[in-house]
Amino acid sequence: MRINVLTIFPEYLRGPLELSIPGRARDAGLVEYRLVDLRDHTHDRHRTTDDEPFGGGAGMVMTPGPFFEALDALDPSGPVVSLTPRGHPFDHETAVRWALEPELTLLCGRYKGIDQRVIDARVDEEVSIGDYVLSGGEPAALVVIDAVVRLLPGALGDHESAASDSFYDGRLSAPAYTRPAVYEGLEVPAVLRSGDHAAIARWREREALRRTREVRPDLLDGEAAD
Ligand code: SAH
Repeated sequence: MRINVLTIFPEYLRGPLELSIPGRARDAGLVEYRLVDLRDHTHDRHRTTDDEPFGGGAGMVMTPGPFFEALDALDPSGPVVSLTPRGHPFDHETAVRWALEPELTLLCGRYKGIDQRVIDARVDEEVSIGDYVLSGGEPAALVVIDAVVRLLPGALGDHESAASDSFYDGRLSAPAYTRPAVYEGLEVPAVLRSGDHAAIARWREREALRRTREVRPDLLDGEAAD
């Protein structure tokens, strides 16, 4: 898979993409990252990528030119995605869908956002990583890349399978514990130390459901109550 990111701050992403699972996946040849500096697609001495908003108001808007030119140069084959608080919520289903693509292209805005003509003419999907406003799309791009790349076959070792994670089966995961069995008087639930795998599976199922009902009942909507 190839992941392109269009940004005025390629350095924001370079370090994180070399670490941990995204870095390992790249080293293993599962994914290639192309960080495109929008300033390389400007033609003035100051390498300008923003301008004042038509209609007035505070804040600058990112000009269409660098995005159009960068996309022309890339000619991407998979979805072109704009990161924006105005987008659909990014979720597990979207990550799974994009992990199946040969190429994913992410557009990072800054200031008041990107000129709408870029979105109308070149963008397939707009996603938000949550109901809050970031200063730029770069942290959102890192979130999306991490969530997608860890789903690529081979990105996770067997011991870190995605199947036991939250959302994989439409609910939150059960809590996790490790050694020591007692820490400052706080005990790990006995069932997890019982060696009874069926009992452990039942406990995890129950705890996962309880947690989901408590903090994310919306995930269970439409699921038969059990
Ligand atoms: N004026 C816009 C916010 C611009 S924030 C509005 O009110 O909708 C600047 C940039 O940060 C955006 O262009 C976008 O790329 C990014 N950004 C901010 N919040 C985000 C979020 N919740 N999800 C994804 N990207 C976000």
